[in-house]
Amino acid sequence: MQQLVFATNNAHKLEEVAAKINGKIKLLSLTDIGCVEDIDETGTTFRENASLKSKFIYDKYHVNCFGDDSGLEIEALNGEPGVYSARYAGEHGNHAANIDKVLTSMKGVTNRKANFRTVISLIWNGDEHFFEGVINGTIRNDRSGTAGFGYDPIFQPDGYDKTFAEMSLAEKNKISHRAIAMADLLFFLKKV
Ligand code: IMP
Repeated sequence: MQQLVFATNNAHKLEEVAAKINGKIKLLSLTDIGCVEDIDETGTTFRENASLKSKFIYDKYHVNCFGDDSGLEIEALNGEPGVYSARYAGEHGNHAANIDKVLTSMKGVTNRKANFRTVISLIWNGDEHFFEGVINGTIRNDRSGTAGFGYDPIFQPDGYDKTFAEMSLAEKNKISHRAIAMADLLFFLKKV
């Protein structure tokens, strides 16, 4: 079976992607390959950060791998938090504080349009390929739901009356930005 390293230790992302791959490829995390370093996300675009992650792993381990970078882009905030989604309120990965900051910035704002975006950089047999997924929606006035991670409790995808955090993994995985990008990646792998 083919192996593919996902340059992350984010358990939620691993679960989402593993469900999408559905046993067709052996998915390995950074922990699985013994990589304990933090990979710096110093880029100013999702593409740059995704590439930093995949290239770091490829240069060190010479394995087929991919890195992703994703985030929330809010129209009324000129695309913020964008690449800074994980550390919007300062501390990396403090989802509660990040959501509070968004809700405060969006108080009284009528344009609630937003989207989640994922860019994946895949290094396959030494060559880099990019895949992208976007899901449009709106920012709720308050949190709702407990599933998922990050900004899920305040993001309502278009065409639904619930947030990502009120959806099952299977439901989110049919429509999410990451699922769209992963579907493209899997389609590519079927052809090579
Ligand atoms: P990264 O791709 O790990 O750098 O993710 C950046 C940040 O974007 C995460 O820490 C979350 O705050 C946010 N994010 C990315 N994908 C999702 C998602 O599917 N749901 C909610 N938040 C997300």
